[in-house]
Amino acid sequence: MRNKKFWSDWLFPIISLVSFATLLGAMLMSMDSIDVSTLISFSTGLLAYTMMLTVTFIGSRPRFLEKHFGMPEMYEVHAVMSVILSFLIVIHVIIQWNGFQWVTDMTIVSQTGWGGVVALIIVMFSGIFSLSGIYVDKSKTFSKFKEKLNREVNLWLHRFAIVAIVAVYFHMYFLPFLANNLLFMILLNTYTVATLLYYVLWKFKIVASSRYKVSKIYKATPSLWVVEVEPVKGKIDNYTAGDYFFIRFKGADITREGHPFSTSSAITKRYSNSIEFMIKEAGDWTESLANIKVGDIATLEGPYGHFLPEEVEQSPEDKVPFVLLGGGIGLTPNLSVLRHEVEKNSQREIHCVWGLAFEEDMFMLDEFEEIKKQNPNFHLHIIFSNEEVEGYPFGFITNEFLEEVGADKYKDGHFFVCGPGPMLDASRKVLANGHVSDEQIHLDDFGF
Ligand SMILES: Cc1cc2nc3c(=O)[nH]c(=O)nc-3n(C[C@H](O)[C@H](O)[C@H](O)COP(=O)(O)OP(=O)(O)OC[C@H]3O[C@@H](n4cnc5c(N)ncnc54)[C@H](O)[C@@H]3O)c2cc1C
Repeated sequence: MRNKKFWSDWLFPIISLVSFATLLGAMLMSMDSIDVSTLISFSTGLLAYTMMLTVTFIGSRPRFLEKHFGMPEMYEVHAVMSVILSFLIVIHVIIQWNGFQWVTDMTIVSQTGWGGVVALIIVMFSGIFSLSGIYVDKSKTFSKFKEKLNREVNLWLHRFAIVAIVAVYFHMYFLPFLANNLLFMILLNTYTVATLLYYVLWKFKIVASSRYKVSKIYKATPSLWVVEVEPVKGKIDNYTAGDYFFIRFKGADITREGHPFSTSSAITKRYSNSIEFMIKEAGDWTESLANIKVGDIATLEGPYGHFLPEEVEQSPEDKVPFVLLGGGIGLTPNLSVLRHEVEKNSQREIHCVWGLAFEEDMFMLDEFEEIKKQNPNFHLHIIFSNEEVEGYPFGFITNEFLEEVGADKYKDGHFFVCGPGPMLDASRKVLANGHVSDEQIHLDDFGF
């Protein structure tokens, strides 16, 4: 686990550093001498460029890496590296600054350089203030500002990252001492073309994503939609319980951006040719689900996620209990795991701890009753936090509550936790206090 944490934090910075070192080495090999400030300026510029390539690669959601590290972790690295590379560019510009002469005497090198800087400012603004919650969600003022911004527009603005890359590429290409350096240009072209090609392939893949049609859509509670889709042709995408897809609807009255949703279904007889999602109304897109009708076409990008690792899925059911902790809509991937266990006819000890705000948020009780009949070792514990509901405890999921329901006894079990960020942090603390190790905790973060 520690190893995994190391690689999810450091793999991408290492990729940037290695490509930077090779470019710097190739550049220095062709130079007789270089003064310190020029060296710092070129190094910061080159490192910023290789970081731009790396964060673009992360933004292309490489599934082969996401399955190991998780998307939230990768987007966090994306966000941190983007801020660092912006600082590097500021240093590069300060050192290269020679007054306002560049305004009157614009060379192609400075034009492309400034073009890159302007594009990058746009990319950073849209990323920090609209698309990512990493920097702004902790501040009420910035969160309010974020709500006012149009996410779809900012998503388009964020694509200026490609303009920034192309501009900075030509900024280097038009410097004769670099353009004449064959090794440098081979490396630069390889890194740039590989990144842009991966990005374009990802975009093609999205266009070519499997097409589904909506077979069911209804409200299970006043604010929760259940959406079931089945493939237009062929079979459903193969996915693991708890995975998630980015959903896009075609032609319907809803914006085109793909939104991530965990599957609430698992591959079972009931869902052998359909996939189910449970979607809580949270803003513009989710509220527009009211415009979706049976028969509308959706595409699914994915599956992503690693909520239920293979070795845990195959762990002996008589020895390894599961504790499913979900806050509100955080039930979704847990339900998928539960349905998968039911399909296996597993008699595993399973505690499903579901924290809800209001009585009206409660649904699915019939299915839980059926599961209890099939597996007497399944236990459901619902707790309400915002109103007293007869027959149910009141409060939050705390260590005491887990003790009360007996979930604390399962120290050698696996804990699946899903809900909003603060709930994940709180649960992680609760479980750590109960001496549950990181390897036994599987988190699904509903915010990037
Ligand atoms: C891995 C993952 C799995 C999820 N699974 C579920 C689920 O099963 N059920 C469910 O109800 N919700 C789920 N969510 C949350 C869901 O994606 C958001 O609530 C939804 O996209 C909000 O869109 P909106 O336009 O209605 O609301 P907005 O007001 O636009 O957004 C509310 C918040 O959702 C986030 N968000 C918005 N759009 C996106 C996007 N395209 N990509 C990533 N984050 C976005 C932003 O942080 C924003 O602050 C999941 C999120 C993630 C990251």
